[in-house]
Amino acid sequence: MYQDFQNHLNAELQQIRDAGLYKNERVIITPQSSGIRVATASGEAEVINFCANNYLGLANNAELIEAAKERMDSRGYGMASVRFICGTQDTHKQLEQAISDFFGTEDTILYAACFDANGGLFEPLLTEEDAIISDALNHASIIDGVRLCKAVRYRYSNGDMEDLEKQLQAAQKQRFRIIATDGVFSMDGNVCPLDKIYRLAQRYNAVVMVDESHSAGVVGKTGHGVTELYDLRGKVEIITGTLGKAFGGSVGGFTTGRKEIIQMLRQRSRPYLFSNSIPPMIAAAGLKTLEILTRDNSLQDRLHENTDYFITRMKAAGFDIKPTQSAICAVMLYDARLSQDFAAKLQDEGIYVTGFYYPVVPKGQARIRVQLSAAHTKEQLDKGIAAFRKVGKELNVI
Ligand SMILES: *Cc1c(COP(=O)(O)O)cnc(C)c1O
Repeated sequence: MYQDFQNHLNAELQQIRDAGLYKNERVIITPQSSGIRVATASGEAEVINFCANNYLGLANNAELIEAAKERMDSRGYGMASVRFICGTQDTHKQLEQAISDFFGTEDTILYAACFDANGGLFEPLLTEEDAIISDALNHASIIDGVRLCKAVRYRYSNGDMEDLEKQLQAAQKQRFRIIATDGVFSMDGNVCPLDKIYRLAQRYNAVVMVDESHSAGVVGKTGHGVTELYDLRGKVEIITGTLGKAFGGSVGGFTTGRKEIIQMLRQRSRPYLFSNSIPPMIAAAGLKTLEILTRDNSLQDRLHENTDYFITRMKAAGFDIKPTQSAICAVMLYDARLSQDFAAKLQDEGIYVTGFYYPVVPKGQARIRVQLSAAHTKEQLDKGIAAFRKVGKELNVI
């Protein structure tokens, strides 16, 4: 019985390999950080990490580890329940309040991941009478969330406000409209034009949803995300985000915004109702993260300094860098094979990055995505830039 299916899977896997698209996972044998050790065919290698979402360097932060340990000792390992049956402790409520305070919103609901927050967002709120107008480059989890909802779907090209306006006009036929956008688009690092989106939403009577996964902790002078950048604190109705990137680098997601929306999600959002609570230690570390981010601005300042430092020097070296307002620096190489060769040579130089190519980015748009972190030292940045220059010359890119 399994034989036919097995043959089919093996053939399909071979096709992925033949196309050069098979994803191999590299194994890290230290904590996640700006400097790590990886297992290689010939043993171990020390590398500088430029491809983690560890924007504020908190993935291995001593205060977070301490907070998690303390809460595991005092509140146990796990909740063995969903939130509404018996999976809510005081720590979960405190974290929800802290997230609301951070974004200037009315209420917050926690999920096991932002993938779940987005997956469970639209279906409880909208019906076939309504519309979702979605940016073409939105994250897979938003796309899946939209698919699970019966609302009529509209799509506008990335950040294109003329197109958004056209879609909003078409969507006047529907009862309610939600505009859905990433805050920072992860492949280019560009920020959504939230000021213009918000104005169009006002004019065409729409609700705005923004996913702050790559922007919370990163964008804005104090790292409060795109709503800070555009001076829209407390104005956007729905914000989703993750505890897995700048906010500590572990797991967990949230939706924060208008209180009626959050109340409805607690009643009807399927990944919330039918999936386990995050462990108390994760909630406690989340609380500590927000405390660290709000007691002073040193991590955010360092991240912004490091990002400017790296990008300025990469441009001066002659690299083609996508316009970015985040901690993502897309080094454009265009050719898929070149992006793989470039990344492999960088690893030989002790620089850990990943080359991205179709279908992760459009055909002919291959690149290396560098992610900067507050944890990078000047010395690590300089080593990274020097390696890029060396390999760039070798491969005739600069
Ligand atoms: C990473 C990411 C997610 C998923 O976050 P998890 O908490 O890891 O599930 C969702 N949306 C965007 C825009 C992301 O970048």
